Amino acid sequence: MRGPLAVGEHVLLVDRKRRRHMIRLAEGGEFHTHAGVLDHGLMIGQPEGITVRTTRGAALLVIRPTLSEFVLEMPRGAQVIYPKDLGPILMLADIFPGARILESGVGSGALTMTLLRAIGPTGHITGYEIRDDFADRARRNVEAFLGTDVPLDVQVRDVYEGIDVPDIDRVILDLPEPWHVVGHAEAALAPGGIFLSYLPTILQVSTLRERLADSAFGMAETIEVLHRGWNVDGMSVRPDHRMVAHTGFLTVARLLNPAG
Ligand code: SAH
Repeated sequence: MRGPLAVGEHVLLVDRKRRRHMIRLAEGGEFHTHAGVLDHGLMIGQPEGITVRTTRGAALLVIRPTLSEFVLEMPRGAQVIYPKDLGPILMLADIFPGARILESGVGSGALTMTLLRAIGPTGHITGYEIRDDFADRARRNVEAFLGTDVPLDVQVRDVYEGIDVPDIDRVILDLPEPWHVVGHAEAALAPGGIFLSYLPTILQVSTLRERLADSAFGMAETIEVLHRGWNVDGMSVRPDHRMVAHTGFLTVARLLNPAG
């Protein structure tokens, strides 16, 4: 992630209209666009932030993608959780270096990558994903951004049927019926452990909160995150006209009275 751009790395090419293309640098590679061809050799060995030109003279800014940029550009199987919610999830679920996490479903792996970065090499994520094609897609996305040396084990299985990892610190869910996981999370989490669920509709939240109220979990909270960009251009300093109106709700709870 530092130093001159190297073969095998992903870079983001940004054109004058701020359109983005993510490519992987290859020896002898070429990037073809309607605005001409770009030789990868112009970027390999160069620092980030340079501007290069296609054969037809179009300027492209070359930058390494941040995690946020990568998850928005990477190939998707399932819909990803957006960066506006990924950051708050780390805080709400208090993800720490060394944490042991059960994550389900894994989907495209956007949340997985975010959690992996926060837990570092001493943590561990077990991911339960019901679809083997999504599990493969997620593994490939994680590898493309973080490499193969990551503490991640993605298993193809249904989390509604149970959690087979003892003594975990966090259960992080992005699936339609998380109330089926509350009982399994009670049994698998260490005391004080945190349960977090991302849900798109408030009726799902309501069902989950009722199930949590009837469990050993307490201190439940539900929030949504609103993110409004601003246009800052000379005298025109105002909120953007458009914003993403809705993604999902975040519900968090802590294991207070573990059974036994
Ligand atoms: N958070 C992911 C996206 C997850 S999409 C990301 O940021 O990329 C929801 C995923 O849950 C889908 O891949 C779906 O196949 C999976 N899923 C749904 N029900 C499940 C279950 N019972 N057990 C495991 N995975 C499940």
